[in-house]
Amino acid sequence: MRRFLSYIKFLYMKMKMNQRHSSVTFEYPYVNKYIHPFSRLEIKNRFQECSGCSDCEKVCPTKAIAISGEIYSASMKKPKTTLGADIVRHIEKFSISYDKCIYCGICVEACPTKSLHFEKSFISPAKEVRGLTIDLKTENKAAIKGFLT
Ligand code: SF4
Ligand code: SF4
Repeated sequence: MRRFLSYIKFLYMKMKMNQRHSSVTFEYPYVNKYIHPFSRLEIKNRFQECSGCSDCEKVCPTKAIAISGEIYSASMKKPKTTLGADIVRHIEKFSISYDKCIYCGICVEACPTKSLHFEKSFISPAKEVRGLTIDLKTENKAAIKGFLT
């Protein structure tokens, strides 16, 4: 009987709380939480502005970036980015491994064309670690063979 009364009391208190607050939880993913303007969430690349220089790949301290594709030879006429820089490589894959990335932002700072940037979006959760490697070129979660160690 005592337990039953304490349960009724609990329900009563809960009802009163619910009257005071319309919602007690954030309804993810329908209600977005506030994202601070300086937040670093998802790395994106505007490929029409990317020269394929690989500077981002070279400076990444955790080797989270992997770029592959043919480098244009010195004798070839190089295409240009939308902002007029020479494109030195035809990028086929541009992968970020979020299991390695520490969000230091060094790659974004090093990018000479400013095509690499952070966006206020979230990467999707993955069942396996390999699912955290995302090819920005295709936006498909596809681990490059041999890239994951
Ligand atoms: S934010 Fe840092 S760790 Fe992540 S990919 Fe860029 S340089 Fe690498
Ligand atoms: S540093 Fe910038 S321009 Fe160079 S490959 Fe990376 S994203 Fe492209």
